[in-house]
Amino acid sequence: MRCGPATPSAQTLYLYCFRQGLESRPGVFARHYLGFTRDLEQRDAEHRAGSGSPLLRAALAAGLEVTIVRLWPGGDRKLERRLKKTKNLPRYCPICNPELNEAAERIGQKGL
Ligand SMILES: [Zn+2]
Repeated sequence: MRCGPATPSAQTLYLYCFRQGLESRPGVFARHYLGFTRDLEQRDAEHRAGSGSPLLRAALAAGLEVTIVRLWPGGDRKLERRLKKTKNLPRYCPICNPELNEAAERIGQKGL
């Protein structure tokens, strides 16, 4: 049973960009990490402490600059799966796809 007022649902999807890319397998470079959380601040802290995603831990260990470049407020697991399935995360990254900047807000509101 919960006490006190329920905290407002702050679920969101978030996208990290590593800029330089991390060689995860020979010749295969990962540049992005997409995740889902209900507490972005805490999740970000976990990632940076190395207790979150192994991919982010490896990127940080390699000295890469790891930045949250985009949020999908209200995004759920379904949207996360859909975005991951495109295998084209750079398309959703405003750093890697500068054209996105103009359309980002409009697209964000549509959930993609
Ligand atoms: Zn990027």
